[in-house]
This record gives sequence, C-alpha cells and structure tokens, in this order.
Amino acid sequence: MPELPEVETVRRRLAPLLEGRVFADVEIADARLTRPFDPVEVARELEGERVAAVARRGKYLIVRFESGRALLVHLRMTGSFLHDGCGGLPDDPHRRAVVRLDDGSEVAYRDVRRFGTWLLLEPADVDAYVDARVGREPLAASYRARHLADGLKGRKAPVKAAILDQRTVAGVGNIYADEALWRAQIHPLAPAETLGPEEVKALHRAIRRALQAGLRRQGSTLRDYRLPDGARGEAQHEFKVYGRGGEPCERCGTPIDKIRVAGRGTWYCPSCQRHARA
Ligand SMILES: [Zn+2]
Repeated sequence: MPELPEVETVRRRLAPLLEGRVFADVEIADARLTRPFDPVEVARELEGERVAAVARRGKYLIVRFESGRALLVHLRMTGSFLHDGCGGLPDDPHRRAVVRLDDGSEVAYRDVRRFGTWLLLEPADVDAYVDARVGREPLAASYRARHLADGLKGRKAPVKAAILDQRTVAGVGNIYADEALWRAQIHPLAPAETLGPEEVKALHRAIRRALQAGLRRQGSTLRDYRLPDGARGEAQHEFKVYGRGGEPCERCGTPIDKIRVAGRGTWYCPSCQRHARA
C-alpha cells in the first residue's frame, strides 16, 4: 500500500501536470470510487474546475481547485495515476476514471483492487475532514519528538500499532513503521507508553530517516505502485527489514524474524530490537 514516500512522489509528479489546468472532461467508470455519491454526478461537478495546487496530507492526495473545493484521493492498496501528454492512453481493464485536461492531455486513474477513493469536498469541509483523520506531518520542519511523545503517551498498544494510527503520525504504514523501529532499535511489540524519552527521540529521528530514504528512491514498488509516467519506485531494494525474513540484520547479522503485530506482518531483528519490557 502506498505510504507517505509513495504518495508524495506521485504528488510531485502530478503537480506540474495538473496545476493551472482545467478538468475539461471527467469520466468515472466505477461507482465504488465515489460511493456513496453517484459517479456521474461527481464527474459533472468536477468538470470546469481549475486546479490551484496538488497537495498531500498523510496518505491523501489533495487536488485543490481555485473554487476552494478539493478532490481528496486515497490510493489505498493499488491505486495509481497515468498521464498521457497527447490523450492516447492504451486500453486498460483496471482504469476507473479518466480526466481530460484543457491542454488535451489525459490523466487516468487505475486501481486493480478497487479500494481507492475519490471524495469531492466543499471549501468549508476540506481542512476539517482531513484534520480529523490525519495527525502531524513527520517530515515537516516543525515536527518534534514531543509531538510523537504526545501521541504515544498512555497507550498500552504495541508501539507499532500506535505509529500505524494515522492520527499519531501522518503517512506511516506497515513498511515504514518496520523500517523506523529497526532504525530506532525498538521492538515492535513494546507497549507505546513504556518508551523512555531517549527512545522516543530515537524513534522520531528514525521515522523521518526511513521516510526520507523512501522518498529519495521515489517510493517502493511492491505491487501496482507506479508513477504517472509509468515508472516504478526503487526503495524496496534498500529496506532494512521489511520483507527480509531470514536475511542477516545489517547491524548485527542475526536473521530477521517475522511476527504479526496488530494483524500486520512485521519484520524486525530479534537481537538488536529487544523486547525489554513486560
Ligand atoms: Zn540486528
């Protein structure tokens, strides 16, 4: 599933294609994308809107229009965009929507598993909707260890479950949670509230570094993640633990182990991520 580095990479590619352009013609071919709203009505509402900016909060892409409305896109498992400069997109059975822009180019949305969502919000609703679901941005310059500490305080849940909660840290999912915990040398099952100040500091730094490493390689391609020009991310080649069960830990040589935490496959080093707490 695309996490912060993947969604941010898509945003950076989409922004120059969309900003300043008008959604001239919109076709939404899948009612699941816009439910409970009628896809034909949503498409009609989108037509004529001019894009002011393409933003991101957590794993949401936010296409902000000059009218103040915004189209909130969540890629979920397998959503992706494909841009074609001259409006000649190849046939694709997994295409769920096509936006023709006023410069004649087309942006297609494809989604194999169909969990992705498009939600058109009115100006007064945009920030409230997002802020209720998404916590602080971990790569913002203003993001401090004390913000992470506030999010972990009083939580008996495993620290991994706590940082997967989008209200604790925006945009961290299963991959970058494992990567960050390995970097911070914290066991994924350690209860969140038991982390000391030094551990919280280490985790704060580790979350940022793991996400930045992902961003530098334009995200990771494990399934259907693609950039709008069809390219793949390369971050998966540099994962420290995610998906590396049985391989030696880069730090200590112990084989990476796999367990389940909060229902998710979780990779960690049993030697340098010790579960020192009851
Ligand atoms: Zn190790």
